[in-house]
Amino acid sequence: MALLVQKFGGTSVADPERIAEVASHVARCRHRGDDVVLVVSAMGKETDELLRLAGEVSDSRPGREMDMLITAGERKAISLMSMALHGVGVRAESYTGSQAGFVTDVNHSNAKIVDVRAGRIRTALDDGYVPVVAGAQGVSVDNNVTFLGRGGSDTTAVALAKALDADACELYTDVSGVFTTDPRVVPSARRMNRITFDEMLEMTAAGCPKPAMRSVEYAHRHHVPLHVRSAFTWEPGTWVTEEDANMEAALIRAVVSDDSQAKITVAGVPDRPGIAGGLFRRLAEADVNVDLIVQNVSTNGVTDISFTVPHEQLPLAMEICESERSATGAAGVTSDHDIAKVSVVGAGMKSNPGVAAVMFETLADNAINIEMISTSAIRISCIVSGDDSDRAVEVLHSVYELSETTF
Ligand code: ASP
Ligand code: MG
Repeated sequence: MALLVQKFGGTSVADPERIAEVASHVARCRHRGDDVVLVVSAMGKETDELLRLAGEVSDSRPGREMDMLITAGERKAISLMSMALHGVGVRAESYTGSQAGFVTDVNHSNAKIVDVRAGRIRTALDDGYVPVVAGAQGVSVDNNVTFLGRGGSDTTAVALAKALDADACELYTDVSGVFTTDPRVVPSARRMNRITFDEMLEMTAAGCPKPAMRSVEYAHRHHVPLHVRSAFTWEPGTWVTEEDANMEAALIRAVVSDDSQAKITVAGVPDRPGIAGGLFRRLAEADVNVDLIVQNVSTNGVTDISFTVPHEQLPLAMEICESERSATGAAGVTSDHDIAKVSVVGAGMKSNPGVAAVMFETLADNAINIEMISTSAIRISCIVSGDDSDRAVEVLHSVYELSETTF
């Protein structure tokens, strides 16, 4: 039968009742004849709680100690989960990241996996156990406990699926799959049966919060089919897979909005080589994550440069822009907090003209002003005012008929 890696996120194992439900689900899979490896996150809001505690204890929070602390959350969850499995007659064994063979670099709190030595997990499977592996953790090449970062459990699951050559990696969560847009904004949004890795990655980059981008990239690179599904209803969810020849590429598959960014405009910049290079080099050196960039045509030797950054990096970015402004003689720097990026994603737009025209016309018909535009081969994004965000999503979801199409 199949070998499945099943990852359960924090809400899926938030309390004893949830843990019991997951255990009986695993028991059902075992009776069906499947081999199962579990990857478990910390229970509920435990990771946030540990972070909060650390903040109360000290201002000095060395990465090594933070990772030792944070990884305790998953350790608690795997032992409880294994006990619950024993309770329903499933032989299970818990493994920390280190025991499961996750070797990482030395970058605390955001460690990257450098090797998965899955021998012990393989043996446990061969001996008839369900291995229960702690998500988002490993041991560094210099032998310290490491944390892979927020959302790192998805990456653990995908990496394990790859190392074990599993048939699928199932990401169980509190939503039932990937939707054509956020159902809280558009109630008629539909769950998709399938989506390609390229589309999923564009959606993630456009602001779709789950699954974690890193895990999708990893799965894409190593050809691990992902199944995003519900740990509450247990119904089949959305498959994220390679593009296959039988799959008709959808013109537009999803509308995604993101209100986590702010816009900065540097006005009256001298139009000569090296100005943009100098500014964006300094932003890069400060680790500012720049997304959309627009430079206008110049008039009288000066131009404007606008770009977006995450809200939390706005003060830092403004400081850098201000100092570049005085160094280059630019006229001024302004920022706008209240913007949203609204994107449409679909592999079919590669071979179909007119998608952009429909998007811009639809926004115009609804009196929504476009402040900036950017595109990739399969995505078009517009920056609009924050107040217009939900309405933009609604009208675009409707004009591309995403509630009606099935795929
Ligand atoms: N528990 C960690 C977090 O909430 C890691 C994970 O679940 O992926 O970010
Ligand atoms: Mg999580």
